[in-house]
Amino acid sequence: MTFEFKIIKNDLRSRARTGLIKTSHGNIQTPYFVPVATSATVRALDSQDLEDLGAQCTLANTYHLHLRPGDKLIQRMGGVRGFMDFDKPIFTDSGGFQAFSLGYGREHNINKLGNIFPEGKKTKEAEEKFAFVDDDGVKFVSIYDGIKHFMSPKDSMEIQSNLGADIIMAFDECTSPLHDYDYTKKALERTHRWAKQSLEYKDPKQALYGIIQGGWFKDLRLLSAEFINSLSFEGIAIGGSLGKSKKDMHKILDWVIPLLDKRPRHLLGIGDIDDIFECVERGIDTFDCVQPTRIARRASLYIRPESGGCPKNKFRINIKAAANKEDQNPIDQNCDCPTCRRYSRAYLRHLYIVNELTYFRIASIHNMHYMLRLMSDIRKSIMNNTFSELKKKWLD
Ligand SMILES: [Zn+2]
Repeated sequence: MTFEFKIIKNDLRSRARTGLIKTSHGNIQTPYFVPVATSATVRALDSQDLEDLGAQCTLANTYHLHLRPGDKLIQRMGGVRGFMDFDKPIFTDSGGFQAFSLGYGREHNINKLGNIFPEGKKTKEAEEKFAFVDDDGVKFVSIYDGIKHFMSPKDSMEIQSNLGADIIMAFDECTSPLHDYDYTKKALERTHRWAKQSLEYKDPKQALYGIIQGGWFKDLRLLSAEFINSLSFEGIAIGGSLGKSKKDMHKILDWVIPLLDKRPRHLLGIGDIDDIFECVERGIDTFDCVQPTRIARRASLYIRPESGGCPKNKFRINIKAAANKEDQNPIDQNCDCPTCRRYSRAYLRHLYIVNELTYFRIASIHNMHYMLRLMSDIRKSIMNNTFSELKKKWLD
């Protein structure tokens, strides 16, 4: 296994840093936003599109690929890399997050930050309906066919070995923001046992990231950061419920990051533009999130601050808006992506309204290009000691 992480430059005024992750299948310059290929494709894009966009790597979802088409089939097809013919570093998650959250989270409309709180306290029932966890692993119901499955840390390591990623995640219990202290503590102890089991059962050809949990409880997060940092993982991920607001998430990072050594740090499932800046500033190296393509499918297209977004969200425009009906300008006049070089807002709006499949591809190309360019700008700014100026320019 080749896995190395080198810090190239530390920002002088914050914990931001640029670095290089080396794997057997290529390098990743950090900070980096890892495009998510849920079912071995970034939705609406193919591997050629990813290459053309200069994507350095991708992250595939263990839960989805285990259930469909099956990790053993993928192994026979050359792993995720061979299957999707994408010859770059590949991450997989552990499958735990989806096993816990799909169904349960969906039922309660809880997103990662838990901004949307369900009324009442039906958590236990809902949890047992969709996922049941004990010390051995998690029993869960497939979202595809309702069939019951079981996944243990050993299973997760085997599945991720079959999928053949370069960078894999330890199996953990991702608690909900609705869980109280006592439950979160119990789940954390389980996660820590599973972290050790993940190390024991992992494929030696793969680099394994341990996951820090602990919800939004400071002592649990500190405990988890110290424990995970003490084990021989190749990298460290921060997962789970990151509090009730963005401020809570920043606080959690401020607690845990100082306890970590120089291994690469991955933040699971975060991808808002302001969060990217805040989390890079706090020392995060890689992110993954479905946001760029998901919001593109819902008519939200990214726009750079100098190009003028909508008042509600300065980083986005709503392509559906009537104002775009006869607008011959590109989505963003300061964007040089293939979509903006060629097509007008009016054309994209039309394709969206008539539900043409082409819309999904060209809108996703723009949003992904935007995100990758932002990461490149952030890396350059750290190199030039201008990260805080760039952050100010974007967020103020
Ligand atoms: Zn563009």
